[in-house]
Amino acid sequence: MMKSPIPDYLRRVLEKARPFDSGEPASYIDVLAKADTSRSAVAVATVDGSVYSAGDDDVEFSIQSISKPFVYALAIQDQGLDRVLEKVGVEPSGDAFNRLSLEAGTNRPMNPMINAGAVAAHALVVSIDATMEQRVDRIVEALSRLAGRQLHVDEAVYEAELKDANRNIGIAYMLKAAGMITCDPQEAVRGYIRQCSINVNVRDLAMMAATLGNGGLHPVSGDRIMPQESVRQVLSVMTTCGMYNSSGDWIASVGIPAKSGVSGGIIGALPGQLGLAVFSPRLDERGNSVRGVAMCKQLSRDMGFHMMDMSQIAGASVRSWTATVAGGSKQPNACQEDVVVFELRGAVRFAGAERLTRAITAEMDKIRASCESSSGTGVQPHVCAVLFSFRNTYSLNDVARRLIHENIRRLANMTNVVVIDPSGVLKLPVNQALDQGLGFQQPRVFKTQAEARHYIGGIGCRVVSNEDSI
Ligand code: GLN
Repeated sequence: MMKSPIPDYLRRVLEKARPFDSGEPASYIDVLAKADTSRSAVAVATVDGSVYSAGDDDVEFSIQSISKPFVYALAIQDQGLDRVLEKVGVEPSGDAFNRLSLEAGTNRPMNPMINAGAVAAHALVVSIDATMEQRVDRIVEALSRLAGRQLHVDEAVYEAELKDANRNIGIAYMLKAAGMITCDPQEAVRGYIRQCSINVNVRDLAMMAATLGNGGLHPVSGDRIMPQESVRQVLSVMTTCGMYNSSGDWIASVGIPAKSGVSGGIIGALPGQLGLAVFSPRLDERGNSVRGVAMCKQLSRDMGFHMMDMSQIAGASVRSWTATVAGGSKQPNACQEDVVVFELRGAVRFAGAERLTRAITAEMDKIRASCESSSGTGVQPHVCAVLFSFRNTYSLNDVARRLIHENIRRLANMTNVVVIDPSGVLKLPVNQALDQGLGFQQPRVFKTQAEARHYIGGIGCRVVSNEDSI
């Protein structure tokens, strides 16, 4: 059997990062300070659920700050975005992750990726009067669903961090004084530290990140884990604040929404494409894994992952042609007629739908011109239908769908419009009311080409043009 070249490539990325041996593991949590610094791993999970990895991909480490974006998503889910925004801002702080700071004017912690905002977000999970156990249970359960396996709190890491948690306790009292949390500050910190002590490996993290990359749908189970709107909120905050005070450098050089943690992990989530995770314990002075950053830079460069690259845009393509059909047995006038076909390929957004709009206008103008020169008014007599094929359309976003609906509505007042849409991307109401003698006002939607052909030319209808088919 042929082996995929991707794991080999990931091994090369890992080996290239190995010589980067500056930095130290986090020193303020003694279990982390003793981490084996030779450990390194990388994993990539696609939004349709393939996971590739290399290195120490089954070694577990505590999730630490990588829990923050997921707990922020839970807070949004449990309280609604507006209430979360009253307690946690979305401005990059440019400060260290453990800075005692609040936003001037609002008194909110600057963002949910620094500790102050993360403790406030933690305290919003479940409800403001929930117990620590309830919050931690909900978080462990949610992270386990994301990872696709049961995760556990590492008690040794928890105890170690709790021993020296004065800074986070200071942050929690500051939040309490500012009215940003209502629960006991010590309890908020204990819950937050338990959340940070959940053990994961890079494959778990890549899958969790891929769920963010997949708009909140789990790549393997297909379950909706988070609503699309909270994923967008989370990814936006990861983009501007995920790497603390190196967020600007990170987004310019790597270009992937990301989050790092003091145990040496980093995740990245590229919308519509993948999630990635890296791990190695030595940290730079800003608390980001040295080898991890090197691996992410390499991956982004080699694989074209930068989100500002042009390649993200031109996903759609439009083809149009005219096919000639000969009517089948049930077609009263079994002569040859033309069908104008538009085919749309790819993941279509405004730019692709606009391209289709131009193709329709140009094609219909051509037909009208030739009509006017032959018979006077109306559509050319031997164009019996305009057919839209969405067989190769992967997805339509909302604006693309609305634009195409409007084009179809306008065309349907002029001619017979037929749609082939096997997976329902267009979401047109399927053949609700037929034209009822009012002319061609309802497009007909079919799942297969054969059904569309039979509708256009009657049972037995054939495509006789050799150029392209329907
Ligand atoms: N538990 C850690 C802390 O609060 C998390 C920080 C991090 O991973 N950057 O200090």
